[in-house]
Amino acid sequence: MDPGAMEARLREAILTGGLCLHYQPVVDLSNGSMVGVEALARWQDAELGAVPPDEFIPLAESTGLIVELGRWVLDRACRQAASWPDDLVVSVNVSPVQLRDPMFVDDVKIALGDSGLGPERLCLEVTETAIVTDVADAAAVLRRVCDLGVQFALDDFGTGHSSLTLLRNLPLQTVKIDRSLIRRVATEAQDAVLVQLVIDAAHTLGLRVCAEGIEDLDQAQQLVSMGCDTAQGWLFGRPVPAPASGSPQTAGGSPLLATSTPAPVAL
Ligand code: C2E
Ligand code: MG
Ligand code: MG
Ligand code: MG
Repeated sequence: MDPGAMEARLREAILTGGLCLHYQPVVDLSNGSMVGVEALARWQDAELGAVPPDEFIPLAESTGLIVELGRWVLDRACRQAASWPDDLVVSVNVSPVQLRDPMFVDDVKIALGDSGLGPERLCLEVTETAIVTDVADAAAVLRRVCDLGVQFALDDFGTGHSSLTLLRNLPLQTVKIDRSLIRRVATEAQDAVLVQLVIDAAHTLGLRVCAEGIEDLDQAQQLVSMGCDTAQGWLFGRPVPAPASGSPQTAGGSPLLATSTPAPVAL
C-alpha cells in the first residue's frame, strides 16, 4: 500500500475509533508490586492487519496526524486509568510534534478534567530526540505541564546522546533506560558498567530509574542489585488490552507479584 493510502486509512482509524490501547505493567523492583502501566497504541487495519507503532507513529508524525492521535491516546488512557486503583500511575508516550503543538498543555488539562484522573497519576514519556532540537522551548512546555502536577519520564535513555545535562535541566521524575542497554546487562560487563553509571547519575540528581525490556530473571536480579527502582518487560507482563472490569495485572495474574501465591516472578 502506498504511503498516501496508508495515511488515509490511519486518519480514518483515528476518526472512527479504529485504534486501541494496550497496557504494560511497570513493577517496583524492591517488592515486585505493580506501580503503574504504560499505554501503547495499537492499530488493527482490515487490509493491513496489525500495523506496529514503529510504523504508524512515524507516519502520524510526518503527516501531522500525531496531534489528533496523541490527543485520543491521552484522553483514552486517562479515562481508563480513572477507574483503576488510586496508586496506579498511567504512562503515556508523547511525540516531539505534540510538544510543539500550541494546544498541548490544554490537551493535557482537558484529558485530566474530563476523566477526573488525579494529575499525579499521569506520567508523560518524552524522548531525548524530542528535546534536543530545542531544549529551551521543550523545557518550558514541560514545566507548564509539570505545574499541573503531572510527572515526566525521559524514555529510551541510552539510545541518543544520553545527555546528563538534560537530566538535570528538565523537570523529570524518571529516566527509562532503553532495552538496547538492558539486553546484555547480566551478560556483558561493559553494559553493566554503563547501566550502573546511568542509575547512579539519575539517583544523584534525585530521579527514579525504570529499566525497559526485562525478559529474564537474570536481568531483573542484576537490576535489583544495581539499585534500579522500577522495570517493565515481558518477564512481568506483555502489553495487553485493558480488562473489561477491574484493573490491569502482571504476568502471574496478580497485581501484587510479591504477595501472590505462587509468586509468578520471585525477584
Ligand atoms: P516505548 O515507549 O519505548 O515502548 C516500549 C516498547 O517496548 C513497546 O513497543 C513494548 O511493547 C516493547 N516492550 C516492552 N517490554 C518488552 C520486552 O521485554 N521485550 C521486547 N522485545 N519488547 C518489549 P511497542 O508497543 O511496539 O511501541 C514501540 C514504540 O512506539 C514505543 O516505544 C513508543 O515510542 C511508540 N509508541 C507506542 N504507542 C505510542 C503512542 O500512543 N504515542 C506515541 N507518540 N508513541 C507511541
Ligand atoms: Mg514509552
Ligand atoms: Mg522506551
Ligand atoms: Mg521507544
